[in-house]
Order: sequence, then structure tokens, then C-alpha cells
Amino acid sequence: MAGSYAVVTGAGGFIGGHLVAQLLASGHTRVRAVDCKPLEDWQQIHDGVDNVVADLRERASCDAACDGADSVYQLAADMGGMGFIETHKAACMLSVLISTHMLLAAQQRGVRRFFYASSACVYNADKQADPNVTALREADAYPAMPEDGYGWEKLFTERMCRHFYEDFGLETRVARYHNVYGPLGTWEGGREKAPAAICRKFVEAKLSGERAIEIWGNGEQTRSFMYIDDCIEGTQRILAGEVREPLNLGSSELVSINQLVDLVEEIAGISLTRYYLPDAPIGVNGRNSDNTRIREVFGWEPSIGLRTGLEKTYKWIHDAYVKRYAGRLGPRDAAPRGAHARAR
Ligand code: NAD
Repeated sequence: MAGSYAVVTGAGGFIGGHLVAQLLASGHTRVRAVDCKPLEDWQQIHDGVDNVVADLRERASCDAACDGADSVYQLAADMGGMGFIETHKAACMLSVLISTHMLLAAQQRGVRRFFYASSACVYNADKQADPNVTALREADAYPAMPEDGYGWEKLFTERMCRHFYEDFGLETRVARYHNVYGPLGTWEGGREKAPAAICRKFVEAKLSGERAIEIWGNGEQTRSFMYIDDCIEGTQRILAGEVREPLNLGSSELVSINQLVDLVEEIAGISLTRYYLPDAPIGVNGRNSDNTRIREVFGWEPSIGLRTGLEKTYKWIHDAYVKRYAGRLGPRDAAPRGAHARAR
């Protein structure tokens, strides 16, 4: 039976937590937030929301999640930055259980709109071999040669979304997110991504007095990074819009990892000696988002500058770090060694 809930899966995570906040701010009164993590580990917990802890690999959990739902935002996935996805390929692919069961449950419960969070990792690796990359257009996902593991699952689920519309009439919408960053994301533990990892390393250096940073690869690999507010706005536009094909949702401000480090260095106000780790996981050499299509459709594209977004992110990570390690901080005595994975 169709209903009025807006359902966010993966709501205990980074993007899902912000999406729930925005749904509430925009007047939704019936929001269901679902994640498999214990509530105390959720990045954000919002009052007035139906917060549910459930493993969405299970079909019964998906049926319950979709009960009375009008729209579903399918964000739940076992994922992380390059260091995680290159070493957990099977785990990443098993997210297909979540997507499959969520699609089946949504279709059978009469959900009106189903949003799926895909990724720029679906793009053909051959088109991302050069740091001076040509920005990726939506058509560049084919012929298929996505990121092994994680990217294949995303591409497969994109196809399922398409066929659930064609065969069953479920209105599906798909965004290909390009590197999202911002406050309230993962910043340590091994799943964090480059912007958060680099901010954390500068915070550590500042608090400990060490003046060195490890950088994965040679630092010349390029990416674009989208601030969370743009991601949330784009997600809502795509859900409400009429485009059924996957759309890029990313910034087109291309920077190298070295330029990203330069920016954080300015924000932190300290200079660090850079040590490069050529054998660390770096993913493709270059990736940018071609925003022609999203501009055509919505007259809008992500536009929050990297410097602006990084300032907010750095400040939040600084405060979170100090809070978590309060009482254990001093010169050369930041977080316990081994508490963090290396940056990517
Ligand atoms: P995140 O890891 O912070 O959030 C994902 C959440 O899904 C986690 O809280 C996790 O506990 C939950 N989850 C995992 N398995 C589950 C299960 N079996 N049942 C219920 N919940 C489960 O990640 P995020 O950055 O918020 O990403 C959200 C979505 O966007 C993911 O699908 C991700 O693949 C996609 N995406 C993110 C980025 C990015 O840069 N952050 C880029 C491209 C795509």
C-alpha cells in the first residue's frame, strides 16, 4: 500500500544523516531512517523520525522499511574510500543484496519513487587513465569496465533500477555521486576518503607538533570533490525530476591530490613535509564530472567551492578529534598510533 513515509536507508551514515536533516527542514513530517549500525554509532540521530536499526540485506527488513512509504532513498551500502573498496571487493558486491531486496520491497509495496545512490566508480577505467582527464559524461559508463567490486555492484544496480521501471513501472532515479565530503562524515578508522583523511592528518600534526604527512600515490592523481550541501540538494532534485537515466552529481572543480593538500595546508596554517607512498591504493589517475546534462535538466549544478567546503570540514574534524581524544592530547601525543588508517 502506498503511503507517505520518506524512507532513507543508510541513514546512520554520512550522506543519509544529512538527507534526513534536510527532509525534516523541508517540512516532511513522516521520515523513516534505517541503518544496520547500532543507534549510538549513527553519525546523526534526529528527533521526530522513525529510527530503525535493521540489516537491509534481509528481505523482511526491506519490506518493513518500505511499509507505508511514498519515496525511498536507497543509500545503504558497505563502502568506504579507496583503501577500503580495493581490499573489500566481495563485501562491496554484497551490497547487491540490499539493493535487490529494497527494489523488490519498494515495487511490491507500491512506492511512488525510488532513488538509488550510484557512484562515479561505474565509469570505464580506460577513460580515467590520465590525470588531465576529460570530464566524464553519463554515456562513458559503457562499454562497461567499472571499478572492480564496488563499481560493478553500482553499475549492476543501476541496470536493475532501469529494468524495474521498464518491466514493473517502478519510478526509479539514479545519481552518480562523485566524491562527497563535509562535516559528520567518517574521518578515521579505514573507511574515510581523501578530504577527511587529509584534514585529520593536519589536525594530528597541529596537535602533536609532528611536521610530516604521508600521501597515497604521487599526489598528481586528480579528482573533483562535492560538498555535502550540493549533494543533498542534487539528490532531492533528481528524486523529484523526470529523468530516469543515471545523472552525474558531482563538482566539476578538478584538483590534484597535491592541490587538495595545499588547500588544507592554508586552512590549517601549518606546512608539512610530504612523503609519498607510490604503492598505496589510489584508484584511477583522473576523474571529473561533466555536468552538461544536469545543467540542461535542472539549470543547476553543484557549485560550492572546494576551499569553502574544506574550511567547514576541517573545523568539524578538528573539533571531533579534540573531543574524541580529549585528555590524551599533547605535543607528540595525538591519537594513539594505529588508531588511524593512512590517508588516501
Ligand atoms: P556511509 O558509509 O557513511 O553510509 C552508508 C551506510 O549504510 C552506513 O551507515 C552503513 O552502516 C549502512 N549500511 C551498510 N550495510 C547495511 C545494511 N546491510 N543494512 C542497513 N544499512 C547498511 O556512506 P556515504 O558516504 O553516506 O554513502 C552513501 C551512499 O552513497 C552509498 O551507497 C555510497 O556507495 C554512495 N556514494 C558515496 C560517495 C561518497 O563520496 N561518500 C560517492 C559515491 C557514491
